[in-house]
Amino acid sequence: MTSFDGLAGAAAKHCQLPTANPDMAATTPKLADADAPRTSLPIYSANVDAPTATGGALPAPPHNHSCGSHGPNIDYELVLDCVHCGLCTASCPTYVETSNEADSPRGRIYLMRQVIDGTLALDNDVKQHLDLCLNCRACETACPSGVQYGKLIEPFRVYMNEQEPGRQTASLNALQRFLLFNVFPYRWANRIALAPARLMQWTGLDWLTEKSGLMNLVPRSLRNMKNMLPELKPHYGSLPEILEPIGPRRARVALFLGCVADSLYPETNYATAKVLQANGCEVWIPRSQACCGALHYHAADEVTAREFAATNCDAFGATDAERFQNVDAIITNAAGCGFQLKDYAHMMHGTPQAEVAARFQSKVRDISEFLMELGPVKPKYALNVRATYHDACHLRHAQQIFKQPRQLLEMIPGLELIPLPESELCCGAAGSYNLTQPEMAERLGDRKVENIASTAARAVFTGNVGCLMQITRHLKAAGQNVWAAHPVDALWASYSGEMPPQLKDPSGAGTDSKTGQNH
Ligand code: SF4
Ligand code: SF4
Repeated sequence: MTSFDGLAGAAAKHCQLPTANPDMAATTPKLADADAPRTSLPIYSANVDAPTATGGALPAPPHNHSCGSHGPNIDYELVLDCVHCGLCTASCPTYVETSNEADSPRGRIYLMRQVIDGTLALDNDVKQHLDLCLNCRACETACPSGVQYGKLIEPFRVYMNEQEPGRQTASLNALQRFLLFNVFPYRWANRIALAPARLMQWTGLDWLTEKSGLMNLVPRSLRNMKNMLPELKPHYGSLPEILEPIGPRRARVALFLGCVADSLYPETNYATAKVLQANGCEVWIPRSQACCGALHYHAADEVTAREFAATNCDAFGATDAERFQNVDAIITNAAGCGFQLKDYAHMMHGTPQAEVAARFQSKVRDISEFLMELGPVKPKYALNVRATYHDACHLRHAQQIFKQPRQLLEMIPGLELIPLPESELCCGAAGSYNLTQPEMAERLGDRKVENIASTAARAVFTGNVGCLMQITRHLKAAGQNVWAAHPVDALWASYSGEMPPQLKDPSGAGTDSKTGQNH
């Protein structure tokens, strides 16, 4: 793996850059070194130079853009927005874990710029540092210069894929690829694929095969995927296409169900529909809705992703401007899907559906964002639990939604919300990242659970299915008895009085569903 010395040294061969601090190579912990000391997350004021892995502010590489005329489709002005101050480094999960400048946002921008300029070869080391990026956008939130990192890394990855077709999924085996692109994006296929796992969990066969060692006969990749599964709840079946509001109608909304989330966490879609009803919303669940397209888009399959986007624009009525006026909002409870749906105009740019996509996108709202805009009905039943909240990257950094979920949770009687250290740091889920970069995903998952444990919370909430799976798995591995759920699950429990079993602790002390009192 490239240390910053290697990176600057390689670049210097071409453009006479000063090389970085030679001590760096000796002090940079490698990713494989699980015992490497972790860097805490210091907070820097915007007018103070952050200490950097190179011991100071990074010099800008010389501008030599003419070298890379056939490079990635990136607006070069966006690259120049980075002034190399380093204020983003402390918020970058990969840099925090490795302390390697080449694994920081600034280092990656530096690498991309050198490749675009033609002064650095796009070799395996460079690719590895770029692949290790979670695309979590924490650097965008931290950057005082407004660098749009996502608009750099995404086209750059498309470029890397063009240079080497299929490379983004090369680390996956055939079964993983099949599941990722042919099963996960389809709700019914997911339900069928998960039926054996559900049955095994319910009958205890799951536990038996694990204990007897039979599970070791299953291919490792399948075993790993099975280990990622949460406790699967019964599916709600099929909700009516229209759910009437409770009380006077305050809004008419369309509900986006997602694909894999609907099978893994059906209770959350159910809770979302019920909470919307309880808030006076007429809920329309379009039957022909499809996957948001994120899985394919991030694997550089733009064609399929656009097909999904076109299907959704049609299903939610955005193709008919007049009819679409009757929809006040399109609601999603999954941060990753929400971000993708809010990016449809960009995704469909230059196609005949661009205008329709922009119309669709303008009405997409995360459930917490929408409820706080609407003015939520006060939750009724108490949930006497000490809880904390993890910011899903696609909600916090990509959509700048962080106050609303906390505000909703704080409305719940009895719920004590404790700040989570490093709540903005990615948990390592990041779409299919835990399949393609399992080592870093493990480190970040462990780190997240250590932080959760430090709060002594008995519940952790987060607004994204991938985060829920990752956190649940790591909590289980660490032997932590903590309920991991979506904020809307807690809200519905408080509206309905139907308390989740996870809130009943092994000692028998729990929350009375009607009075909300501990007993
Ligand atoms: S991305 Fe922003 S915060 Fe990071 S080095 Fe560049 S200008 Fe500074
Ligand atoms: S997107 Fe996340 S992992 Fe990638 S450089 Fe930015 S902060 Fe680091």
